[in-house]
Amino acid sequence: MLDFEHARHRMVEAHIARRGVHDKRVLNALRQVAREQFVDEGFEEFAYEDSPLPIGSGQTISQPFIVAKMAEMAEIEATDRVLEIGTGSGYAAAVLAELAEHVFTVERHRSLAQQAERRLNAAGYRNIEVRVGDGTKGWQDKAPFDAIVVAAAAKSIPLGLQEQLEIGGRLIIPVGEDPYSQRLVRLTRIAANKFEEEDLGGVMFVPLIGEQGGHDENAPSAREVRPPPLPRQIARAAEDLPAIDDPAFGAMFDRFGSRRVVLLGEASHGTSEFYRARAAVTRRLLQRHGFTIVAVEADWPDAAQINRYVRAEERQSEAQPFQRFPTWMWRNTEVSEFVGWLHEYNRDVPDHAKAGFYGLDLYNMSGSIATVLAYLDKVDAEAAAVARERYGCLMPWQNEPTTYGRAALRSGYRTCEEAVVRQCMDLFERSMAEGDGALLDAKQSARLVASAERYYRVMYYGGAETWNLRDRHMFETLDQLLEAHGPDSKAVVWAHNSHIGDARHTVMGTVRDELNIGQLCRERFGARTALIGFGTDTGTVACASDWDGEMEVKDVNPSLPNSFERLCHDSGKPSFLLDFGRHGQLGDDLAAPRPERYIGVIYRPETERLSHYMDSSVSRQFDAFVWFDRTSAVTPLTMSADSTGKVPDTFPFGI
Ligand code: SAH
Repeated sequence: MLDFEHARHRMVEAHIARRGVHDKRVLNALRQVAREQFVDEGFEEFAYEDSPLPIGSGQTISQPFIVAKMAEMAEIEATDRVLEIGTGSGYAAAVLAELAEHVFTVERHRSLAQQAERRLNAAGYRNIEVRVGDGTKGWQDKAPFDAIVVAAAAKSIPLGLQEQLEIGGRLIIPVGEDPYSQRLVRLTRIAANKFEEEDLGGVMFVPLIGEQGGHDENAPSAREVRPPPLPRQIARAAEDLPAIDDPAFGAMFDRFGSRRVVLLGEASHGTSEFYRARAAVTRRLLQRHGFTIVAVEADWPDAAQINRYVRAEERQSEAQPFQRFPTWMWRNTEVSEFVGWLHEYNRDVPDHAKAGFYGLDLYNMSGSIATVLAYLDKVDAEAAAVARERYGCLMPWQNEPTTYGRAALRSGYRTCEEAVVRQCMDLFERSMAEGDGALLDAKQSARLVASAERYYRVMYYGGAETWNLRDRHMFETLDQLLEAHGPDSKAVVWAHNSHIGDARHTVMGTVRDELNIGQLCRERFGARTALIGFGTDTGTVACASDWDGEMEVKDVNPSLPNSFERLCHDSGKPSFLLDFGRHGQLGDDLAAPRPERYIGVIYRPETERLSHYMDSSVSRQFDAFVWFDRTSAVTPLTMSADSTGKVPDTFPFGI
């Protein structure tokens, strides 16, 4: 059973107070209301994440932070009469009822209004009245109000609502036609005919649908946003990049050559340019700057096979590496070329300078996930579907309300934990015994063995705890590789932007208590760390629609109007390096959080804004950013069988 009270207190601290709501009465009100009672059955687990959740009729329960922020801005006193427009689940009404004497709330969907009324009654609220109707017209019979809070975005401020404000009353309302971004406005009635308007910042709400200042029933279209001046600043600071195959490309990164760790990101797991650019930078760091460790976001045992190949060591296992989903992530021509190059490179350098190729991920993570799925497919199809969704979420995704529906745990899920963990342990012990573990130094093996069972239990459930466990593990593996290679050793890391961009400057850190390897490297190595992000506007990407699904090549949507990517696109330059270390002013100007796109192995363009964008402060998250305006999908290697039906075993990839 989840400890809701603990989760609620943690949420108030982490999602609300830390983000700037300080009013003690408001924070207390949020500590009082049991949010899990206002979400649909099965969603309780997610009730204290700072996300909107689905509540039926295509609507969502508001994010706790925004409920708190609106309540604070409404300056509600204990004797106030408050009107809320958009009852939804009833959660915000309950919070308001903790603060005010009386709350009146209007909802246009009858089913939602009735459900909210039931929930509010069950929770014991006696100072709330719910009505079905068009809230843009307010609630004339009950006016005037000391505060009016509108939980849906209006085109313009409804006149009726202004008139129903008491003198001194406050109206808090999101205004704007863009479905993805509106302004939160506070209108204070300072005299009968005098209103003061304040802009409280950017927000995202579902549309207010109604007669006065509302939207039409049919969803509004996105509004064109005027291009801001930042793109011009970016264009000025941008250093044009030569073609990736040009040796001059790698030389652009010589400035990072003296760092102990250089972490190279990617904005997707299936973009050719990101792989080729990282290979070019890595070649240069190995050849010119004394790096000997290439550590990637991949399973240790699979990477170990590549390592033996590039170091011309004897092969230990018959199986080919990277045969499990997502195969294209490592089995592609881009990686194959780089591995071939590493093999050649190592032939010509003395032993101490030879480079190694290592996997940082939770030991055998994709192998374990495949084990979990195979088991669940056999015994509980529903649990298997949930698992696929949850594993798809080992990437930022958590804002997409429909995803929660597919990822909510059913009772059968827990029942399978024991059996699944046992199978994962079997796999683990087998692969260690077969010698895949031989490459690990004794210390790392001991660490793995000691925590394996816990890893598999946490991993089984996916979600936030898995994220932190995984990134901590990746960091520890990197740390031990560096230690094993001596005090002067240097490492290049290849992992997704979400792992290598300092989590403290994204919603992951500020809201979800998630950390990552980039953050841990900065904490450990300070200025001897380089975190380099990679991004794109549009093109194609190799990805899947669901975990375990077929690889597809999908078009990447052009970036959103208010995103960091759009600023880069609007600079008009096709490819460049943005070095925030050399352009401090630009770094400061870009420091405000804005949406940044994260495409993982799963890409769902249909729900892109919610499932793939996360507010991030790019110039703080990274030391530098590499831009390719148009990009294309990686080319996967096929595992074709020869005429005898046997998969050819040419090392390392069997082509
Ligand atoms: N405050 C709610 C979230 C509401 S989402 C909560 O905490 O759960 C916005 C709600 O506004 C939706 O339920 C939507 O149906 C409702 N809505 C939209 N236009 C409306 C209108 N004109 N009058 C009343 N409700 C409206």
